[in-house]
Amino acid sequence: MSSLKIVHDRSRCIGCNSCVCIAPQTWMMDEKEGKVLLNESVQKGNLYVADIFEEDEKANRDAADACPMRIIKIEKH
Ligand code: SF4
Repeated sequence: MSSLKIVHDRSRCIGCNSCVCIAPQTWMMDEKEGKVLLNESVQKGNLYVADIFEEDEKANRDAADACPMRIIKIEKH
C-alpha cells in the first residue's frame, strides 16, 4: 500500500462512468444510485476515502482529470 489516498465527494457524482472506464480497479458503478463507489472506501462525513496502490496512481490521476465534476482528489497521507 502506498501513502496515497483518494477522496471522493460522492454526493456530487453524476454517474458519467468515466472513472470506471479509466480505473476499473478502483471504481465501480452503483446502477441503483446512479453514482460510482470508491472500492474499499470509508465514509467521512460527505466524503469517501480509500488508500490506493502506487501502481494505480497514474490511472486514478487520469480519472481525476477526466471527471467532469472534479470530485476525485488524490492526496498524500
Ligand atoms: S468521473 Fe466523476 S462524475 Fe463521473 S462517475 Fe466518476 S466520480 Fe462520478
